[in-house]
Amino acid sequence: MTTFSELGLAAPLLETLAAEHYETPTPIQLQAIPHILIGRDLIGIAQTGTGKTAAFSLPILHRLDQHRSPARRRGCRVLVLAPTRELASQINEAVRTYGRRIGVTSAVVFGGVGATPQVRAMAGGVDVLVATPGRLLDLMQQGSIRLDGVEVIVLDEVDRMLDMGFIEPVRRIVAATPKERQTLLFSATMPPDIRKLAADLLDDPVEVAVTPVSSAVDLIDQRVIHVATREKPGLLASLLSDGAIGRALVFTRTKRGADRVARHLAATGFAAAAIHGNKSQGQREQALNAFRSGRSRVLVATDIAARGIDVDGVTHVINFDLPNIPESYVHRIGRTARAGASGTAISFCDVAEREHLRDIEKLIRCRLPVDEPAGRRAAPPAAAAADARPRPQPKAVPQAASPAASPAASGRKPAAKPRACAAGANGRAPRSGIAQAKAAPSQPRRSSKQATHATPNSGDRPARRPQANSAGSGYHDLAHLSFMAPLAAWGSGTGGESQT
Ligand code: AMP
Repeated sequence: MTTFSELGLAAPLLETLAAEHYETPTPIQLQAIPHILIGRDLIGIAQTGTGKTAAFSLPILHRLDQHRSPARRRGCRVLVLAPTRELASQINEAVRTYGRRIGVTSAVVFGGVGATPQVRAMAGGVDVLVATPGRLLDLMQQGSIRLDGVEVIVLDEVDRMLDMGFIEPVRRIVAATPKERQTLLFSATMPPDIRKLAADLLDDPVEVAVTPVSSAVDLIDQRVIHVATREKPGLLASLLSDGAIGRALVFTRTKRGADRVARHLAATGFAAAAIHGNKSQGQREQALNAFRSGRSRVLVATDIAARGIDVDGVTHVINFDLPNIPESYVHRIGRTARAGASGTAISFCDVAEREHLRDIEKLIRCRLPVDEPAGRRAAPPAAAAADARPRPQPKAVPQAASPAASPAASGRKPAAKPRACAAGANGRAPRSGIAQAKAAPSQPRRSSKQATHATPNSGDRPARRPQANSAGSGYHDLAHLSFMAPLAAWGSGTGGESQT
C-alpha cells in the first residue's frame, strides 16, 4: 500500500500527517499528489469528504517548502478559490494545519464581514490566499490584492461555483494571474460548462476521479417516512427524542423553512441552530461552533449553506424537505458518512414531494425503505392517507423499460422490481474501498478522522461491483450517473486516470 512518504512529500509534512493520524493517502490523494508534485495541471473529480483538500494542499505546501521565495506585497504565491465562506475558512484551516511545520503564511478572504482586517492581512503578501470570488474581485478592484505573482491556482468545488453564478468572476480572476501557472480544478460533477471552463483555463491537464458519493451512500442506512406537511415538525421532535440520534443535520429547502424548523425545535426544548445564506458570518460561526462542540445536537441547514461544512460524527441526516434536485439528496446524506463513518438518513416525504422522491429513487436506482413514524395512528389523517397509496415504482433499467423487454412481447419473465436500498450497516456487505477498510477484522476501530482509506491501486480495493444483483437494476449500477461515473474508472486498473 502506498504511503505518504512514498509519494515523496517533504519530511515536515510527513511529521504533521503522522501527528494528525493520517496513515494512508485517500484515493484522490494517491492519484492527484504525484501529478501536482511534478507541476501538471489537473482536473480532480471529487467532492468534500474524500480528502481532496489535502490532495491539493500537500503537494502545494511541498512545493512552497522546496522553493522558498517571499510573496509580493498584497500578493500571494498560491490562490485557492472556493464557493462559500465556510469552505474557504476550512481550506485555510487545513492549509495552516498541514503547513504548520514549514512556516507557511496564509490568509482567507470572503464577503459578509468587514474587509479591513482582510486587507491588512494581505498587506505584506502571503504564501497562500483562500478566497471566495466576489470579495476577491472587490479587493482586486480596489487595489488591495494583486495576483500577478500567483504560481498555483486551485478552483475548488467548481460545480457549486457554477450553481452560484461565480463562473464569470472566476474567469476574470484567473485572467489576472500569470499564464505560466499551475491550475488545479476540483468538482464533484463535470457538466459541459465546467468542461469548457477547464478547456479554457487548464493546460494539458491530467484527469483523476474518485467515487465518494457512492462510497458514502454505501454506508448509509436510508429510510423515508410518508407524512403530511403539517405533521413534519412533530415527527421531527419525536425522532429527536430518541437517544440514538447523536448529532443530526436537518435539511430544509428554504431559508425560511430552516428558521421555522429551528424555532419549533427550540420551542419544544431541543437545542438547535440554523445556518443559511441570510445569516451573518458571526451567526453562522456561532451555529457551527455550537454544533461542533455538541452544545446543539441539531443543525438545521439549507443545501448551499451546508456545502463544505466539515463536521465529524454526524449520526443522522434528516431531510425535513426532500430536495427538488435529486443529486442534492446524495450530497446531503453524504454528510453523515464522512471519512468512512456510517450513518442514517431519514427523509420526510409529503404528497407534494412524491415526485422528488421518485426522481431520487431513479437516480440512486433503488427504493428507499419506508418507515412508519413511531406512535403513528393506524388510520392516518387524510393528507397522510394520500401518502399511503401504493407508490409508483421508479423506472427500471433502460433495457427492462424498452418495448422489446416487455414480458408479453418477449415471453420472458417480468423484470424484477428495483430493489430496496440497503446500507452496509443493515446487513449488506460494504463494497467501497473505505467500507472495506472499516470492515476488515484486522483493522482497529478508528475515529472518523483516522479512518483508513483504501487506495485505488491497493490490494484491499474490491473488484468492481462484486455483488452485482440478479435484476441488474440495483444500486450497484451507479456508474451510469455522470457524477458517479468515475466508479467505472476505478475498476479499469488505471486508477481512474485519463488524459484530457
Ligand atoms: P475533505 O474531503 O478535504 O473535506 O476531507 C474530509 C475529511 O477527511 C477531513 O476531516 C480530513 O481531515 C480527513 N482526511 C483527509 N485525508 C485523510 C487521510 N489521508 N486519512 C485520514 N483522514 C483524512
